[in-house]
Amino acid sequence: MARVFWFRRDLRLQDNVALNAAIAGSVDDGDKKVAASYIVDLNNFEKLKPIRQHSLIASLDSLGASIDRKLTIRHSRGLDDFANQLVLLAMSCEAKVVHATRAFDPAGIEEQNAVGLALKAEGIFLQLDDSAYAVAPGIVGKPDGSAYRVYTPFYKAWLNFASVPPVALSSKGYEWIEPLECMGRPAASDSIDREIRAGEAFALRTLDRFIERALSKYDEQRNRADLSGTSHLSHALAHGEIHPRTILVKLSNSNAEIVFAKEICWREFYADVLFRNPNSLDDYYEPRFAQMRYDKGEDAERKLEAWKRGETGYPMVDAGMRQLLADGWMHNRVRMIVASFLVKDLHLEWQQGAAHFEEFLTDFDPASNSHGWQWTAGSGTDASPYYRVFNPVLQGYKFDPNGDYVRKYVEELRHIDGPEVHEPWNLLAGYLHGYPQPIVDHAAEREEALARLAEIKKPVD
Ligand SMILES: Cc1cc2nc3c(=O)[nH]c(=O)nc-3n(C[C@H](O)[C@H](O)[C@H](O)COP(=O)(O)OP(=O)(O)OC[C@H]3O[C@@H](n4cnc5c(N)ncnc54)[C@H](O)[C@@H]3O)c2cc1C
Repeated sequence: MARVFWFRRDLRLQDNVALNAAIAGSVDDGDKKVAASYIVDLNNFEKLKPIRQHSLIASLDSLGASIDRKLTIRHSRGLDDFANQLVLLAMSCEAKVVHATRAFDPAGIEEQNAVGLALKAEGIFLQLDDSAYAVAPGIVGKPDGSAYRVYTPFYKAWLNFASVPPVALSSKGYEWIEPLECMGRPAASDSIDREIRAGEAFALRTLDRFIERALSKYDEQRNRADLSGTSHLSHALAHGEIHPRTILVKLSNSNAEIVFAKEICWREFYADVLFRNPNSLDDYYEPRFAQMRYDKGEDAERKLEAWKRGETGYPMVDAGMRQLLADGWMHNRVRMIVASFLVKDLHLEWQQGAAHFEEFLTDFDPASNSHGWQWTAGSGTDASPYYRVFNPVLQGYKFDPNGDYVRKYVEELRHIDGPEVHEPWNLLAGYLHGYPQPIVDHAAEREEALARLAEIKKPVD
């Protein structure tokens, strides 16, 4: 009678409370055996772009290697089949308990509910522990128990709970059982021309490298798109290859480290907001924004496609969109610039942009993505004034001061030296290599966005 450990978005061994519970349970049971499992729902997997598929495969390969290839990977089609795969696996090793880390996003909750019910029908218990956060969603609240809608007071309250030390992998003697009818890693729909490095060991190395090289200047450099001033830990956090506890415990009280801890807290804030408002995954958190006028039809579709391809004619926007296509990642500042452009210059709905991000982002996280978009659109939690419209050209000069970021991703502009690359329309040679003309006039669209926002303004009390 083994215990089953169902890996989800916690693809690591260290600092994994739920895994330790499975190990402890197997030792208490007496036979000290744990079956490691991961279920891939092919219906979801097939919707992803190859870069995301490969990033999951890289994470699974690394996890499998860290447990002597004793990971049972099963495939499913749909939620019932998903749950059934876990039931079959548990039955084949006569397990009475399946362990996993608790999810708090709508899809994760639906999944664990379905699995829990299917297991229960066979007399098997699903034990959920911990979360992917230093402080689980739903814990931080106002004294009256209600949720924070604003980040800063959430952060202050979060600090009271967040100093939880990481937990080491249980040293109790146990063994992973041999894979049981493993279906192997899923097949990606296409190859990609870059290597994806992933896994727990890589995440820990990435953290150490960041601490050594960039953390002390994080507060000054994190907004610079042309520098590697951020941690690049988002893939690892999204796949659970590292737990935020492991990161936070390494931080002290310098300004740079506090600013970095605050970013980790943004992730936890958004998870809390989504947990308490599951509809905000796809719907406007601030409902009046659903009433705003958005562009639809052929012209709007054409602009959306140009934005997706990185052919808007605004260098900073296009560099970001092409970074997304090439790397499956985009710098945070540039995510805000391209999101503002989609909503406020093209007058499209944030969900259209978020869906595109979801297909490509290897660090895709439902809460951070939906609420990162809503923050920029002005319909989310209130940190961003809704009337802020990013100027894509000025943002370029400020956060890519020499134009290196644009040149890296926009081939047609590589012949332009220096910051002038942000305004090819001022240069005789600006369009020499076929770079597109701007698809809209930013100044005019800014006025249009403000006019549409005024139409849904809150009535004055
Ligand atoms: C429109 C939009 C969509 C986004 N979609 C996602 C997404 O799907 N997945 C995702 O992980 N992040 C998302 N973000 C947040 C942010 O852009 C990324 O977390 C960050 O760029 C990852 O790079 P990093 O690990 O080097 O970040 P660092 O600056 O090193 O930050 C460390 C960690 O803190 C967290 N973090 C940092 N900034 C934010 C933020 N603004 N909101 C939430 N968490 C943050 C991340 O987990 C990140 O890995 C989005 C932001 C915007 C504006």
